[in-house]
Order: sequence, then structure tokens, then C-alpha cells
Amino acid sequence: MKVVVMWSGGKDSQACLIHSVKKYGAKNVIAIFCDTGWEHEVTLAHVNDVCKQMDIELITLKSDKQFEELCIHKHIFPTGTRRFCTVELKVKPFIDWLLSQDDSFIIVQGIRASESAKRAKFDVECDYFEEYHTGKATYRKSDVLEWAKTHDASVIRPIFEWSAQEVVDYILSNGQELNSLYKKGASRVGCYPCVYARLQEVKIVAKDEKYRDRLLRLERRVTDAMTKDGCVANFFQSGKIPERFCLTNANKSPTVREVFDYVTRYDDFPSLFEDDDESCMSVYHGLCE
Ligand code: SF4
Repeated sequence: MKVVVMWSGGKDSQACLIHSVKKYGAKNVIAIFCDTGWEHEVTLAHVNDVCKQMDIELITLKSDKQFEELCIHKHIFPTGTRRFCTVELKVKPFIDWLLSQDDSFIIVQGIRASESAKRAKFDVECDYFEEYHTGKATYRKSDVLEWAKTHDASVIRPIFEWSAQEVVDYILSNGQELNSLYKKGASRVGCYPCVYARLQEVKIVAKDEKYRDRLLRLERRVTDAMTKDGCVANFFQSGKIPERFCLTNANKSPTVREVFDYVTRYDDFPSLFEDDDESCMSVYHGLCE
């Protein structure tokens, strides 16, 4: 039996790493990091540094097409109803890896009930493949069901009842640093930016030339591909900013430049235009922090 911690570079999964090392010992813990190719370099460095500090094995999983190639290939960006980024870049690579292992696993996820009403309804423990047993999941279904006959993949969520402050205190009291993107004002540190980034976080990206230009470039490339298909959609969804600031598209989904202009002009964003808690899906939560 091995213990794998879903490690994103964020505070919740960092607390889970520390907790798991204390409980099971460093040599029994593996950190799994799904690299989307769209992370900030600070997060990539933090992911490595923390594992080195605790002397635990780090396995980095990458899909064939990473975030940018995937969006260009699909001619679209992920949306609330088509959240293909998490599935293609995180869930599938992890399932592929799991099925390649002839072992049973405890899978540790850094999900907290206080993150959202939706997450509060999660169980503290479950079967990683429960959605296969209920018929909701289909990816490599026959392989999964075959593997599950002889192997176990149990999910545990050891910080489920913790507050964000308890997580931070736990990390600091164990002599570790948080991902420094938090100090810049990020509330989540997955993709940079995540398609669900809050306006306050977009404001930070807008000031960072390297990542600002990367995002503008990607939207241009994907929009060019979409225009050939006769449809238009942008990185951010409609409703991200007030409609009167969306001057380019008839469907009122703002361009990245319009969102950058908006966040640069305003400081106090009305909650109406801030996302609800969005990120990863169902039992796979905890992959995008
Ligand atoms: S962090 Fe955001 S953009 Fe990245 S995979 Fe997760 S939901 Fe998609």
C-alpha cells in the first residue's frame, strides 16, 4: 500500500504532504503533481522545493497536449460546462498512472469543507473510483473496473474540517514556507491564470509582463482558430466584468485585454463579478488549488 498526495503547489495540499509524512513516514509518501504547462514558474519551483525539503518522491505527470496546445487543438477555452482542462490535464494522466501501478493506494486530497457549500457535502473518505461504480465516469472504464478488482484506491481528506488559517499555521509551524504567489495576492495557485481566476488575481497577472503577454498571445491564437470555425469565445466567460466594458464581442464575453483594462482601472470589484467557488470536479476535487 502506497500513500499518494495530490500535490498542486497550493497550501491545502502542502498541509496534506506534511500531515502524511508525519503519519506514514517520508519513504512511504509520493507526491503527485500534474503539470498543465500553464503554471507560474514560482509554483513549479515550490513544488520541487517542498518535496526536497521533506525528502519525498515527486512524480510529475503531463498529458500529451498541455494547456495551450489543448485549447488551440480544441479551438475553445474551458468553460463551466466544458471543464476539459482538469479532465485532460489532471484526471486522465493520474488515472493512467494509477492503472500502470500494481499496488493499492491511499490517495490524500487537500479539500476543506469551508471552501464552499458544495465541498462541505463531500465525504471525508471515499473510493477514488466511486463514479465508475455509479456509472458516472467512463474514461478507460473497463480497465478501471478490472484494476479495481485486485487493487484499492481509497481517498482520504485529512484537513477536511480545517480552516484556511489552520492550514497556514500548520505549514508555518512545521518550518515550511507557503507558495510565494499567495503573498502577491493569489487566492489559488494552480494555472496562472486559471480560467476561473478572480478579478483580484487577474489584476496581479495584468501587472506581470511575462504572464500577461502569454495570456494575450494564447487568446489570440485560440480566437484565430475559432474564427475560422465561425464562432467566437474568449478565455474569460461572459459575466466576468460588467457588459458595458465588453466592446468587442456581440455575445459579451470579454476579451483578455478588456478584462485587463477593467481590473487596472478598478480596485474594488463588486461581488457580482467575482466567481463563485469554481475549480475541479466531483471526487477529483483538490487537483486545482
Ligand atoms: S487550475 Fe483552472 S485552468 Fe488549470 S486545470 Fe484547474 S480549472 Fe483548469
